[in-house]
Amino acid sequence: MKNSIVMLGAPGAGKGTQAAVLVQQFHIPHISSGDMFRAIRKSDSELGRRVAAIMDSGALVPDELTIQIVQDRLSKPDCQTGFILDGFPRTQPQALALDEMLKNIGQAITVVPYLHVRSELLVERLSNRWTCNTCGSVYSLGPNDAKVCKKSDCLGTLYRRPDDEPATVTERVKVFEKNTSPLISYYSDRGLLRQIDGEQTVDQVTVALLAAIAKV
Ligand SMILES: [Zn+2]
Repeated sequence: MKNSIVMLGAPGAGKGTQAAVLVQQFHIPHISSGDMFRAIRKSDSELGRRVAAIMDSGALVPDELTIQIVQDRLSKPDCQTGFILDGFPRTQPQALALDEMLKNIGQAITVVPYLHVRSELLVERLSNRWTCNTCGSVYSLGPNDAKVCKKSDCLGTLYRRPDDEPATVTERVKVFEKNTSPLISYYSDRGLLRQIDGEQTVDQVTVALLAAIAKV
């Protein structure tokens, strides 16, 4: 069965962790708009410079450009058997555009899991998130924990991504909640939404997620 999945969840809700499990389980690509933007901005191209300028100004990449980038990605052969979209759609116009582009290539979203975590807990989780500057591993650490990668073959230094700084975290969570409520109604009206309690342990969330996908 084909699984064409849109993962909804605030920053810090655990989408990345759970998407990695689904990749293993279903052998479908994890398409993260954030990762795509970060890769594109590093590329030496016209598009890379345009995306870098937008991101550096603190603005969101406009819908039109985001939709173009996602469409190019979804038309790659590895998406024929399904995919996990993460970070897209972020707004209702993007959701409409996604339905349209999928229709054009004979596909449709099959399920929309929504990892729900209370905003107070999201802010706490994000403020504790540290990333390895060598291998990219992500850790949840308190103020007194050593900021060194735990992988014995890496031992890289950990840093806090600029958008995980406590001052910006509260704002990111607010923006997410404002943009996402129309999306939740949109997918709920189409019978695709499955709300999952994202405050459970990682393994419990995985069990609930796989059950929700299997029931489609
Ligand atoms: Zn590392």
